[in-house]
Amino acid sequence: MFKKVTIIGLGLIGSSMARGIKEKELAEQLVAADRDQNVCDKVMELGVVDEATANLAEGIKDSDLIILAVPVGAIEDVGKEIGPFLKPDAIVTDTGSVKQAVVDALQPFLPESVHLVPGHPIAGTEFSGPESGFAELFHGRWAILTPLPETSIKAVEKITALWQALGSNIEIMDPKHHDLVLGITSHLPHLIAYTIVGTATELEDDVKSEVLKFSASGFRDFTRIAASDPTMWRDVFLYNRVAVLDVLQRFTEDLTALQKAIRRGDGDYLYKTFSETRDIRKQIIDLGQADYAAAPDMAGVAPAGTPPAVAPHKGSASSG
Ligand code: NAP
Repeated sequence: MFKKVTIIGLGLIGSSMARGIKEKELAEQLVAADRDQNVCDKVMELGVVDEATANLAEGIKDSDLIILAVPVGAIEDVGKEIGPFLKPDAIVTDTGSVKQAVVDALQPFLPESVHLVPGHPIAGTEFSGPESGFAELFHGRWAILTPLPETSIKAVEKITALWQALGSNIEIMDPKHHDLVLGITSHLPHLIAYTIVGTATELEDDVKSEVLKFSASGFRDFTRIAASDPTMWRDVFLYNRVAVLDVLQRFTEDLTALQKAIRRGDGDYLYKTFSETRDIRKQIIDLGQADYAAAPDMAGVAPAGTPPAVAPHKGSASSG
């Protein structure tokens, strides 16, 4: 599919893509570029790339495809560093969990001859680093692409083919729309998980120990989400601020309405609300997205005690 592919950032997502690209033989030459020499050494040891370098400019030399799999907050610096060295007609894509900010950060540094096709795999685990990756991570998941109106169709088709070869289904979206949709399906649930688990850490010691002991009653699923990488999630909230604040405002209003219903003993309101949410669950099942492992964004609402459907060392449902 490609002559030379360079992946920048070999953490969970970058190393999973590397494994998939190798396994499917999608590149004649696969290069890893990570600022951390230990990560470079590790991916060579794991045998998931052909070469690895801590020098990004050197790593992207003559590459047809450059995949940025670094935290959203690092995208601008990486763009600045590699921009002058990109081959004409090269395609640059990324995996960032926020899309408009990535477009804004990258565009100024890319030569006109280079094609930018921003992307976001809706797949992940709460683990980080090159050892945590696995090729099957993207199987049966969505990959959202947010090309700009001026992006070459050929470049979009190539990135579509890449994700399909890695096992994903493709959806094309406007970057701002992506940020709003993911704000509600992924970013808000993570914020709630971080809050609930944070609240538990403030409890008195005896209550806290019982919370941990009886965690199977729902809390456990939140702790898994709240174990997600702090750097990545800090960046998600900083760079998707507008959409997150919008959905958070709506959420707060709905929570206040529930609070009022509980205080007033308004059972009809509670019953009606819980019946409507049950319907949403049914619609997700009908869409074939209810499998616990295949629906990362729904991790927080999996029934209490539901076992993860993937091997524990590979993690389970937590995705940016
Ligand atoms: P990760 O496991 O933490 O890996 C990120 C890698 O990028 C690390 O090796 C990191 O090195 C490296 N890096 C950071 N800044 C760099 C820079 N300036 N130059 C070169 N390398 C740099 O993260 P991840 O989970 O794979 O996430 C990568 C991207 O995919 C993020 O944008 C995230 O939003 C997105 N994403 C994540 C998930 C998920 O569930 N994890 C799902 C979908 C999309 P250091 O360790 O030295 O910082």
